[in-house]
Amino acid sequence: MEITKTNHSRLHETDFDSLGFGEVFSDHMFSMDYKNGEWVSPQIIPFGKIEILPSLCSLHYGQVVFEGLKAFYTKNGINVFRPEKYFERLNKSCQRLCIPEIDPDLCINALRELLELDRDWVPRKKGYSLYIRPFIFAADNFLGVKISQTYRFMIITSPVGAYYKEGINPIRLVTASEYVRAVKGGLGAAKTPANYASSLLPAEEAKKKGFTQVLWLDGLERKYIEESGAMNVFFRMDDELITPPLGGTILNGVTRNTVIHLVKYWGMNVKEHRIPIDELVSASEEGRLKEAFGAGTAAVISPIGEIQHNGALITINGGKIGYLSQKLYNEITGIQYGEKADKFGWCYLI
Ligand SMILES: *Cc1c(COP(=O)(O)O)cnc(C)c1O
Repeated sequence: MEITKTNHSRLHETDFDSLGFGEVFSDHMFSMDYKNGEWVSPQIIPFGKIEILPSLCSLHYGQVVFEGLKAFYTKNGINVFRPEKYFERLNKSCQRLCIPEIDPDLCINALRELLELDRDWVPRKKGYSLYIRPFIFAADNFLGVKISQTYRFMIITSPVGAYYKEGINPIRLVTASEYVRAVKGGLGAAKTPANYASSLLPAEEAKKKGFTQVLWLDGLERKYIEESGAMNVFFRMDDELITPPLGGTILNGVTRNTVIHLVKYWGMNVKEHRIPIDELVSASEEGRLKEAFGAGTAAVISPIGEIQHNGALITINGGKIGYLSQKLYNEITGIQYGEKADKFGWCYLI
């Protein structure tokens, strides 16, 4: 791999005490091209502008996939959390978007080289991390709906602050009555920009009504709960944890997988089955809905304090974080920051 180091590091111009999310980028980036049927010329270069033509097909037709994972500063080194899972999913997204797959080992090696170079960009403060954004875009120049012959794979990284500046505050969700996120056979299971573009207007309307995010219902009947924003959702009913099943319409979250694994390990019942929103409302009225939370890389665990559906507004656990949400948050972040034993081999140390 060719490595070109920057001769102007921005490290000392960066205020590591007041980091937002995805606003500052580290010194270097990884780049690799797909040409004549193979991935070629892997390189690490200074983070900076890339040259594209206005006819770049991915700008027009959206043949793009991406990932989002994190690295943490620990006493044992830089810890990347479950990288193979994210690159596995990147390839799943590639399949759906007709993008050539990339060997996950190659991705992990590229990431390791990049992080070795930008090691000092991983924030030291507890709660902070380095957000890693791998992405692939179609690189042909044409107008017309067809599969591109060339692609670019890049990895950029961004030091990010604590997702919750004032500690974990429960979020408020509202179901969308007019919009849907995905239907079976669509793009719902792929991490591809189209899904986020379509969520902007519904999310904006939810915010205007005073809610944090939309709670998506299934696209066919608008009856079953799917997921929220960039998070999978979980509900603790009586003493069982329930989450919607992966059926092609929701994203196969790595955090979702981590939560299911831990909760099963702790000996609790976890079920993946469809949850009609009306049943959630009645479970809440009957006092059986004990807690609810979202799970995703950015926030790890986000307690859900309120859900509005049609006329009904349900409050969960008095609008406070539940014991299981807190326990999961502590366990997952504990493993990520190297403070708790890595029993399941989830840490990739650099
Ligand atoms: C990324 C994402 C998630 C969460 O996945 P993680 O792997 O846990 O970060 C859930 N839903 C959607 C729509 C997403 O884009």
